[in-house]
Amino acid sequence: MRVAILTDIHANLAALEAVLAHAESLQALDGIWSMGDLVGYGPDPSGCLGRLRQYGLHAVAGNHDLAAVGEIDTRAFNPAAAAASAWTARVLSDAERAFLRDLPHTALLDELTLVHGSLRDPVWEYMITVESAQVQFEGMTTQYSLVGHTHVPLILEERPGQDPDYHVLHADEIVQLDATRLILNPGSVGQPRDGDPRTAYAVYDGDDRTLTFYRLEYDIERTQASMEAAGLPASLIKRLAYGR
Ligand code: ZN
Repeated sequence: MRVAILTDIHANLAALEAVLAHAESLQALDGIWSMGDLVGYGPDPSGCLGRLRQYGLHAVAGNHDLAAVGEIDTRAFNPAAAAASAWTARVLSDAERAFLRDLPHTALLDELTLVHGSLRDPVWEYMITVESAQVQFEGMTTQYSLVGHTHVPLILEERPGQDPDYHVLHADEIVQLDATRLILNPGSVGQPRDGDPRTAYAVYDGDDRTLTFYRLEYDIERTQASMEAAGLPASLIKRLAYGR
């Protein structure tokens, strides 16, 4: 089984298309698993949901998915994010809204637990502290978990009796899924924030038991032009070029 692991796509269709074309050029995909934030910020929520759902998508809800369907109060967002969320809410169809509203907050798939933020707080917690990782390891019923939300590709390794080890994942890094318990974040497809504007994703190979991380150039200007046409906030348009 070979699955694309995509998180924080954020309605960026040019990035999503680049990722899917790359993944399929390597080998056919058996599905897509996502840790949420399918929509929000970006200019093409319906286009992205349509593409994703062609693949037998398994996704959990992110805060931006829930905000777009009124399940989260966007007063918790900064003004640009709130404006993009209000725009997203207006352009979604009833069927798309129902799909987002029904997303689970956690999912167990094969040997992996998927959650947007953390098991302690699935929608909101950023997996960026040693303490948050330790609580996550304690809560995991599987050997590995996949998270999103921070938009930074990161691997955290459990070390019994010590703080977890961690590092930022680099392009083409292959992680062998062995006895070490891991928390993995493949980075954001649609709005990278680690200073590298290239789109980020991973492929899970259930036969080889590997996760491989990729960074790819995509047509950032195409997404920026669509955002401008949609009247989305300038700060969100600019940040794509910097990966911030
Ligand atoms: Zn996000």
